[in-house]
Amino acid sequence: MSWKLKKKYFDLVAQEEGYQKKIWGELLTVCIAYPSYYRTGMSNLGFQTIYALINRNTSFLCERTFLPDPEDEAEFTMGSISLFSLESQKSLTEFDIIAFSIPFENDYPNILKMLSMAGITLTAGERKETEPLIVGGGVSVTLNPEPLADFFDLFLLGEGEDILPEFLKLFKDSRGLGFNRNELLYTIQEEIEGAYVPKYYKVNYKDNHLIANMEPLKSSLPHTIKRRHVKDINTFTTDQCITTPHAEFKELFLTEVSRGCHRGCRFCAAGFLYRPVRFRNLQTLKPSFLRGIHRQRKIGLLGTAVSDHPELLSLCRYIMNQNGKVAIGSCRLDKLNTELVSLLKKSSVETVSLAPEAGNQRLRNLIHKGITDEDISHALEMLIEYGIVNIRLYFMIGLPTEQEEDIEDITTTIRRIKHHAVKSSAGRRNFKRITLSINQFIPKPATPFQWYPLEDINTVRKRIQKIERSLRKETYVNVIHDLPKWNYIQALLSLGDRKIGKILLAAHQNKGNWPKAFKEVNVNPDFYVYRHKSTEEILPWDFIDHGIRKQDIIDEYNKTLLC
Ligand code: SF4
Repeated sequence: MSWKLKKKYFDLVAQEEGYQKKIWGELLTVCIAYPSYYRTGMSNLGFQTIYALINRNTSFLCERTFLPDPEDEAEFTMGSISLFSLESQKSLTEFDIIAFSIPFENDYPNILKMLSMAGITLTAGERKETEPLIVGGGVSVTLNPEPLADFFDLFLLGEGEDILPEFLKLFKDSRGLGFNRNELLYTIQEEIEGAYVPKYYKVNYKDNHLIANMEPLKSSLPHTIKRRHVKDINTFTTDQCITTPHAEFKELFLTEVSRGCHRGCRFCAAGFLYRPVRFRNLQTLKPSFLRGIHRQRKIGLLGTAVSDHPELLSLCRYIMNQNGKVAIGSCRLDKLNTELVSLLKKSSVETVSLAPEAGNQRLRNLIHKGITDEDISHALEMLIEYGIVNIRLYFMIGLPTEQEEDIEDITTTIRRIKHHAVKSSAGRRNFKRITLSINQFIPKPATPFQWYPLEDINTVRKRIQKIERSLRKETYVNVIHDLPKWNYIQALLSLGDRKIGKILLAAHQNKGNWPKAFKEVNVNPDFYVYRHKSTEEILPWDFIDHGIRKQDIIDEYNKTLLC
């Protein structure tokens, strides 16, 4: 390994607070891998939670690895060095387990890149007995692990705090019993609810490429994999064990205050996946808040629906009374109230993010957002009143049934909001900016919108341009958006079945050239992305029990057909 690279990563760890470095020797070893850059991974609370959880187990040591920075990539891809862990700078091949924490589908190509850089066999079926066990977990694979099925020995579906301790115990016991890789994986599949070993399941297809069924290869294995969740989140805290000046949200100390959301917005995977709704109480959270304040950071309250927390004001007041400051990622605009806005202002919050999602009531009803134009105006007046001078507004385009006039309604809404903001701020602190953030709607598994297709990316591109053109001359308004071509890939990786693994592998072998990968592999990606699916068909993720009855999701979907 080059001396420069070694020093770079040594310095990175030296600037962290809260990392653990256990002694190698007797302990079983896990390297948790984040399939993106350090600055992103270190702002991911799920990743940090798994790190802390494994290290609390006295039989294991856990270290971290990330996708190398672009300027360092060549050293790894040329094969002169193997990808290594941050803490001990050990090659990934020296670990017993590599556990990928995977929150986003667009990071899937990075998983293959990292396995290659580590010199680990890409496909699970060809992996040798001596190679580490490759395990995957996180939101995107809990929704649908199938596009990654070829590359993982095992997935742990659901919340890590619930399933991971069982897995670690079984792994440790298997060492004592002298299990080989197959014996271990089979026992895991048989004994751990929520574990999924793809090689023990066969997918059968019909002539029209739809799934006929999915069956376990042995009768003792479950037909359905039940994703796991923690019943009482007040028995522990979930916060940032490591802080670093190099994380994306470096000024924050992230603390989870809730899981799940009862609102039922029909596009929202997080809202459905994390059910049932659970809130952490102030008593449980106090030590976490104090840890963050001690590290001189603003407390970032995280959760699926933070603004629905029944004690939100008490949490904020407690933090402020301890001389701390508080931040909330995004707030439901109908939950803003004067005390909350005033507390945010006292915490030096200059920007508040709100999500109207659509420009008119018809589409807001269709997505079941539950807010009105009056809610938007009221929220805005409150923010201006308390001197919040930057407002970020999230809108989606490409929603089911969207027409050109719905796009015009977005620009009309933005103009109305802006004029309202400027008028309301007259005589007070000057209003600074509205940032309109446009994201394309991507259908997600386990939601009532899972049967809808992705809107054609060329249509979406034109609609984005139309919004930009229409608002170009508006002072105080800034428009940002995502790139439609990556939305197509994200939809494919969200909605695909096992066959998509072949495309993913081809894209990797062609150094990220997706058009070439699509030509090389005889699988039609549009079949997954642009097809309006029938509620009768078996979807690739239907073997997972996400905790919601399929008929309930169908009922919600059917309601959208009437909007
Ligand atoms: S979008 Fe927000 S309010 Fe709606 S279900 Fe998701 S988390 Fe809940």
